[in-house]
Amino acid sequence: MDQLNNDPAVHGILVQLPLPGHLNEDLIINSIAPEKDVDGFHISNVGLLGTGQKSMVPCTPLGCLMMLRDHHGSISGMNAVVIGRSNIVGKPMAQLLLNDSATVTIAHSRTKDLPGVVKQADIVVAAVGRPEMVPGDWIKEGATVIDVGINRIDAPEKGEGKTRLVGDVHFESAAKVAGAITPVPGGVGPMTIACLLANTVTACCRANGLEEPEGLTA
Ligand code: NAD
Repeated sequence: MDQLNNDPAVHGILVQLPLPGHLNEDLIINSIAPEKDVDGFHISNVGLLGTGQKSMVPCTPLGCLMMLRDHHGSISGMNAVVIGRSNIVGKPMAQLLLNDSATVTIAHSRTKDLPGVVKQADIVVAAVGRPEMVPGDWIKEGATVIDVGINRIDAPEKGEGKTRLVGDVHFESAAKVAGAITPVPGGVGPMTIACLLANTVTACCRANGLEEPEGLTA
């Protein structure tokens, strides 16, 4: 890691997770130089994001934020519900929404009356990993739905042994009530990849004292 951290030709480093059980994930992530941490998982970047300072922002939530800003302009004052509290998606997503002045609720596996909580939301971000768990009748009319989940399910209609990808939201029913909704596949996934490249460009600009292109980060 030291070799990569000290190499000026390397602007971005990420560790493909999960790691094998015998390796200490936190130790390895935190050995990346924070300014090259293009996944935004280093404890320094988590702290900077949490205090609203310039940081490297995790790619998936960053992509979700970009779509929300693109669609709404401002999300200030909107009610946002994030379902899922992982360090990779749920928590940084909630932080980004809060930094943009949304009123944020983080729901999780212990949340009481999840349908009632989701029904209050102008913005729903589902990041759970349970196929189609959010049906259309949980969604408020006109709400914006960001489906982060990627779940592979059996698809016998496509032939024996075939599978297909679905999100955490039941797309057909939710699309009838939502004002806007991201599909799975083809929504958050490609934005995540784009944001990884955006973070790498940001890291390169910062390392070389160059002006950062507008709109690439939070
Ligand atoms: P995770 O397993 O770390 O976290 C899941 C969260 O969901 C937990 O906080 C848990 O409290 C919550 N949860 C579990 N059951 C629940 C329930 N019944 N009701 C409410 N909340 C519940 O998962 P993760 O890493 O945050 O990923 C979530 C999903 O997003 C997965 O499907 C993953 O594949 C997908 N994902 C997609 C991208 C992308 O680029 N599109 C990137 C990262 C993750």
